[in-house]
Amino acid sequence: VTDVGGKTSHTAIVARSLGIPAVVGTRRASAAAPAGEWVIIDGDAGVVIISPTPAELSEYRFKQRQSRQEAERLAHIKNTPAVTQDGQHITLLANIERPADVATAVDMGAVGVGLMRSEFLFMGRGGKLPDEDEQYAAYRRAVEGMQGMPVTIRTADVGADKLLDDAQPGGGAAVRRLNPALGLRAIRWSLAEPDIFLTQVRAILRAAAHGAVNILIPMLAQMGEARQTLALITRARAQLEARGVACGAVRVGAMIEVPAAALMVRQFAQQFDFLSIGTNDLVQYTLAVDRTDEAVAHLYDPLHPAVLRLIADVIAEGAAQGKPVSICGEMAGDAAMTRLLLGMGLRHFSMHPSRLLAVKQEVLAADAAQLAEWARAVLESDEPAALLAAG
Ligand code: PEP
Ligand code: MG
Repeated sequence: VTDVGGKTSHTAIVARSLGIPAVVGTRRASAAAPAGEWVIIDGDAGVVIISPTPAELSEYRFKQRQSRQEAERLAHIKNTPAVTQDGQHITLLANIERPADVATAVDMGAVGVGLMRSEFLFMGRGGKLPDEDEQYAAYRRAVEGMQGMPVTIRTADVGADKLLDDAQPGGGAAVRRLNPALGLRAIRWSLAEPDIFLTQVRAILRAAAHGAVNILIPMLAQMGEARQTLALITRARAQLEARGVACGAVRVGAMIEVPAAALMVRQFAQQFDFLSIGTNDLVQYTLAVDRTDEAVAHLYDPLHPAVLRLIADVIAEGAAQGKPVSICGEMAGDAAMTRLLLGMGLRHFSMHPSRLLAVKQEVLAADAAQLAEWARAVLESDEPAALLAAG
């Protein structure tokens, strides 16, 4: 339970990936909870009950049992292919933070990793960044663990809510600014530290010799950044070839998580092999609402018509150019959104493995063609949330 933060801030994402119930942004829970007292944490509802009564405790024990039973019930669709009622094949991928997470991804029936947040290899290292060999070993472990299924490795997204230590190059204080979300983050940081970026890309290309690998570039906003990034990837491959080191083919994708990139999606789609929409940041930047600031959490709305418009345009442009589009933000793992996203034409979803079966259940029950008409109405509405609630 934290006083600060939002539902898509990194603390929440990490808690989700570790299976720890969490409620963030309560503002004053730490002051209100006496030491040594019982606390109920209802992460689904965002409720914290301090010093629960015996009746509340037994109610929540009942809820806990129910949710365990629901998980057991869903387990039977683990190996069922994710195909809609009208025969649309949907790709359900996993988001992972560490190489060891692939075990859960495979266990939940993911058909690949759609987002490996590689910055976790870079954080909390007391001043020493992982070298090429250490990164190669980590990526290789993820790739081999997926047993031939593709692994999408995102290059380091440090900065903003994912800070390095002060002692690291370009880390800590250097990226801690007044407006860190608008600062030297993600690909901006990588392009400002080309040697660190080249090291990471070489490690990824080497891991690609062991299985299907995609590289995903976070937070692109300018075509110039796209060109520089692609040139550095070419240079990293040339460096490995000069050293005579084995490397594999990769597909390179762009994250669409800044409104500028969504508005220029035609050009980005031409430059890249695939697109992945980072809705956590896309919502933040479109609505000018800090995803980590609990004071404005009530304004953080993935169903805002402007956000839906951008997502729909990116999906449509990907389809027009024959480039796969996925969503890898938390929205993809929200089963309440699955029907809408299917109706909008989304066919690739990447989410925390714990969400996979609930989303698959929605997919199996859906008729994508029928949903398309309804989704158009939702998109045109001033109040999409109301239409969504009405089904
Ligand atoms: C996103 O922004 O939606 C995303 C997947 O990236 P992150 O949450 O790591 O910023
Ligand atoms: Mg992001």
